Amino acid sequence: MWIDTHCHLDAGEFAGEHDAIAVQAAGQGVARIVIPAVERANFATVAALAAANANCVYALGIHPMFVARAELADLQALRDLIPHALQDPNFVAIGEIGLDFFIPELNVGPLRQKQEHFYAEQLKIARDFNLPVLLHVRRSLDIVLKYLRRIPVSGGCAHAFNGSFQQAAAFIDLGFKLGFGGAMTFTRALQIRRLATELPLAALVLETDAPDIAPAWLHPARNEPCQIPAIGAVLAELRGISLDAVAAATNANALVAMPRLILPF
Ligand code: ZN
Repeated sequence: MWIDTHCHLDAGEFAGEHDAIAVQAAGQGVARIVIPAVERANFATVAALAAANANCVYALGIHPMFVARAELADLQALRDLIPHALQDPNFVAIGEIGLDFFIPELNVGPLRQKQEHFYAEQLKIARDFNLPVLLHVRRSLDIVLKYLRRIPVSGGCAHAFNGSFQQAAAFIDLGFKLGFGGAMTFTRALQIRRLATELPLAALVLETDAPDIAPAWLHPARNEPCQIPAIGAVLAELRGISLDAVAAATNANALVAMPRLILPF
């Protein structure tokens, strides 16, 4: 049994195939697929996908790369929606939220300020409802951490983690798990592979970020959640442990990160 802790199953790349892809992943033992929202306009979509597919759950949040076109009222709409979402067992976290300083236009001036404002306000929502967060941390780890210290939340996942061991330790100290996926399947990805090999196993969760971050054997084709066991096999090989040990540990870690994520028996 496996968990994909981060998959954009609602993405346009999967149009017309969402349910088939969830079923195919289930056939590969992927018992849970966490679908983060990216903007107010897709909150209902991710909830509907989770309702339609037994192995899918969802998070609600505004992604930093969608902040430019988001409105301030979307933050209040998100806050107002949470008490209702909490009635839905498929709702597991606030996400995807965070900061993206990779894209130059998002890293300066008013858009940088708007990103930080949306991130901080969504951390407050997570804090106020005692919910974990799914974090986007591209080129932004230290500032993401700065806000987490200022607005403490009950943990979650730093998705597509790619930082230093010191930054990893800071997230772990704050109760976070670190998401690893297709990036560690590339032999040239030395730092990510060193992190995946040497960080405490208790800190790691698996993710595809599908349709993005395809593993080496698919690249540059579309990634899919059914790839999780093969990605898990790379982690097992890197760490010199069994596939079962990787599945058991990463599943347990995902449940710690997202306590509302209940696994079937
Ligand atoms: Zn994402």
